[in-house]
Amino acid sequence: MSSKHYDLLAIGGGSGGLSAAERAAMHGKKAAVIESDRMGGTCVNVGCVPKKVMWNAASIAHALRDAQGYGFDVMVNNFDWQQLVSARDEMIQGINTWYGTYLKDSDIDVITGQASFVDAHTLEVNGEHYSADHIVVSPGGVPMLPAIPGAEHGITSDGFFALQEQPKRVAIVGAGYIAVELAGLLRALGSEVDLLLRGQHFLSSFDSMLREVLMEEMVNDGVNILPNISINEVVKGDDGLLTLHAQGGHELTGFDCLIWAIGRAPNTMDLQLENAGIAKDERGYIPTDEFQNTNVPGVYAVGDVTGRAQLTPVAIAAARRLGDRLFNNQPERKLEYENIPTVMFSHPPIGTVGLTEAEARKVHGDAVKTYQTRFTPMYHAITPHKSETAMKLVCVGAKEKIVGIHMIGHGVDEMLQGFAVALKMGATKQQFDDTVAIHPTSSEELVTLR
Ligand code: FAD
Ligand code: NDP
Repeated sequence: MSSKHYDLLAIGGGSGGLSAAERAAMHGKKAAVIESDRMGGTCVNVGCVPKKVMWNAASIAHALRDAQGYGFDVMVNNFDWQQLVSARDEMIQGINTWYGTYLKDSDIDVITGQASFVDAHTLEVNGEHYSADHIVVSPGGVPMLPAIPGAEHGITSDGFFALQEQPKRVAIVGAGYIAVELAGLLRALGSEVDLLLRGQHFLSSFDSMLREVLMEEMVNDGVNILPNISINEVVKGDDGLLTLHAQGGHELTGFDCLIWAIGRAPNTMDLQLENAGIAKDERGYIPTDEFQNTNVPGVYAVGDVTGRAQLTPVAIAAARRLGDRLFNNQPERKLEYENIPTVMFSHPPIGTVGLTEAEARKVHGDAVKTYQTRFTPMYHAITPHKSETAMKLVCVGAKEKIVGIHMIGHGVDEMLQGFAVALKMGATKQQFDDTVAIHPTSSEELVTLR
């Protein structure tokens, strides 16, 4: 059996694995990426990228609705779902192809197939052995289905991106990022949407202000939000339509599409981690220390498989810092997992960084002071359909250090990044107030809060 040796092998050609190999190559090391599917991973193929295209389309649908208020006599004759999906998929294929050239130019080998551990320094792919001084495990995750009869009649976010026809009446089950984002964009594009929450609220880890405003906005947009519904069976009728049976005898019927958005499971089932003695937790995630080390020397994990902050820039940042630490003599280089900014591409979007008000009060008690505002942005002053903007600053101590920034409304998705830099640098409320506002914008509200 042949065996090829590398400085670094990355399992998974997604955000984490690609970044680890790229950083190793940048520091003059020989690296390879092992990928069993399309290069780019979840984000490029069935995540952030196609989602953002759909979100953009939904935002255009809203802009067309709003145009009337600005004097445009717009008549929309048709929305061609298939045309949008083809254009989106062509763009993604372009990214897949670009990766091939880029990796070749960077002198990074691509190994196509499913990797599994032989020992702590050896992987098997298609019967071949590959060894390395350092192995980075970054296989991401897969969407989960519930263990109930008829669950297979539903699709997940992967299936959503494969839809060639727009669903007319959709049930979405879940209360996290994916449920909320897909509900918002499908509704904006014209589908009837029922969003089924097993609890009272969605987005349980977000600041309550964001949850409350988004719920009002989604209801206002026509999303039918049903709290406290637990589905225990799905039945497909002769007409192809789905009926959902819920606990307590409730029945919801007439759906041509059901989307499960109930979370993701780590892709560690087939890695044979036990051959290398690599520990995983009871849910299958690989625990790491703050330097991305697993329990086995020379084996590291980055990205979704670690179960922490499952976001593309987090996987990339952790992998790049790991590469700098291993190959560029920066022994203390690591990712700080606090204060990671995140945007929910809902309608309207949410931007949030730092502690929620509840989290801050738990830690800092009465030392917490909040400033907040809620208003109709100027954009909507003359549109028939209104959408609100709300913002909150969470401050701590006598200096009013800003520990949380929470925003929802038109444009906050592009507003957050710069404010996140300020928060990370330790900005105070006074420093925000001392920054001259930009007028007329919504972001100026954040530096003029009373
Ligand atoms: P992945 O990108 O999942 O890559 C893992 C790769 O490993 C896959 O290509 C897989 O095929 C491969 N693989 C797995 N096992 C093996 C094996 N044994 N051998 C070989 N290859 C293997 N994040 C954001 O920051 N912003 C967003 O807007 C956003 N939107 C999202 C929308 C959706 C619908 C989803 C599902 C996710 C979204 N995310 C978003 C999250 C983001 O996609 C992930 O956090 C990110 O892709 C994680 O990167 P990763 O490298 O850990 O894993
Ligand atoms: P999340 O972890 O965000 O949410 C899963 C939700 O599913 C929870 O809210 C939970 O509800 C609910 N749930 C779990 N089990 C059931 C069940 N049996 N029935 C009904 N509801 C259930 O997962 P997602 O799949 O939405 O997203 C995965 C990750 O991908 C996100 O956490 C995020 O990190 C990333 N992502 C990022 C995006 C972005 O950056 N914009 C966009 C999309 C994904 P409850 O709260 O009631 O427990």
